[in-house]
Amino acid sequence: MGMAINACPSCTKQFGLKSLDHPHGRLDEIMTVNFGTGIRRWSETTYVCTDCGTIIVHTSSKAHVGPSWWRDLG
Ligand SMILES: [Zn+2]
Repeated sequence: MGMAINACPSCTKQFGLKSLDHPHGRLDEIMTVNFGTGIRRWSETTYVCTDCGTIIVHTSSKAHVGPSWWRDLG
């Protein structure tokens, strides 16, 4: 997987979507990590775009401040 400088249009759009929106069709799930207990449970799912190589993280947390979809630069 190469270093992607620019996100493709689908990924760029994804960053503006809400938590309940679905990943676009070229995003393949890499892993999901679960956090919390009881009603304070949420998960973070990491995807890679098969078009542009961008790695995107999604949180299901309703308490999350900021975008629900963001680019993982790690
Ligand atoms: Zn992409």
